Amino acid sequence: MRAMILDQAHSPLRLSRDAAPREPGPREVLIRVHACGVCRTDLHVVDGELTAPKPHVVPGHEVVGTIERAGRDVVDLAPGDRVGVPWLGWTCGECDFCRQGRENLCDRARFTGYTVDGGYAEFATADARYCFKVPAAYSDIEAAPLLCAGLIGYRALQMAGAGKRLGLYGFGAAAHIAIQVARHRGQDVFAFTKPGDAQGQAFARSLGAVWAGGSDGAPPETLDAAILFAPVGALVPAALAATAKGGTVVCAGIHMSDIPAFPYSLLWGERVVRSVANLTRRDGDEFMAIAAATKIHTTVQRFALEDANEALTRLRDGRIEGAAVLVP
Ligand SMILES: [Zn+2]
Ligand SMILES: [Zn+2]
Repeated sequence: MRAMILDQAHSPLRLSRDAAPREPGPREVLIRVHACGVCRTDLHVVDGELTAPKPHVVPGHEVVGTIERAGRDVVDLAPGDRVGVPWLGWTCGECDFCRQGRENLCDRARFTGYTVDGGYAEFATADARYCFKVPAAYSDIEAAPLLCAGLIGYRALQMAGAGKRLGLYGFGAAAHIAIQVARHRGQDVFAFTKPGDAQGQAFARSLGAVWAGGSDGAPPETLDAAILFAPVGALVPAALAATAKGGTVVCAGIHMSDIPAFPYSLLWGERVVRSVANLTRRDGDEFMAIAAATKIHTTVQRFALEDANEALTRLRDGRIEGAAVLVP
């Protein structure tokens, strides 16, 4: 099969034309990949900011495809079923976190496209218990960004709470889905982009942001909560300054530049800063139910599998509107 492989960090992915798909184990499925989203986390892997990838990993954790073969112990999925594969690829089920229903924090978790091969390929092998059925209303390409941008955005929304005025810092793949879920809940969204990014601000307004502006400015109203999708630590004090007493600032990315020192007064008043790590299968089930009930419009830019490096470069440069999706 064709696959894009990371031989070492800081170098472009290599196209292999004769990679062998991994045979599915008893609880695994072999999936023919129809689409795979390109997530900022993939950039963190390629750029060496996530430091422990599987050697020669195939990135990609927003995988949509159909099952070609299922292992003998797979119970509720069968060949021909369309599934999505998210970032959380496997958990141990035994550690304290798993036992407490916090499998997103599992000590031994495996992650798709990082510690196990992912979807930048014609085929991918995944543990069936961590796959999601994809709502029928979405094409493969439309559905791909739901698998991480959508899911992590949903978990971040849950952590941010139900306050009326929500700030989203960084208006890329995750924010463009999160804003639709937030508006559906009746929240007003204030979108912050890179300073001067008029196109990004117009995109946010087109999706219903009540205000959009540069992250160096202040919103016209105090926020009840904020979510940081941009991996920029300096935005943490900025978001705290824009957030009301008792509000939460959620850091939704897996990697972020250092957070600068800031006066305690920004945190005072029971403001909370927290991160969101990974996802649980329950998050996925809840989010897919919302996606099935409310059509979420995903804006996608389509790339051939071989053009994965170009997609990553454009994402790094902030030149993707919505989400980039690879089509093998
Ligand atoms: Zn565990
Ligand atoms: Zn992701």
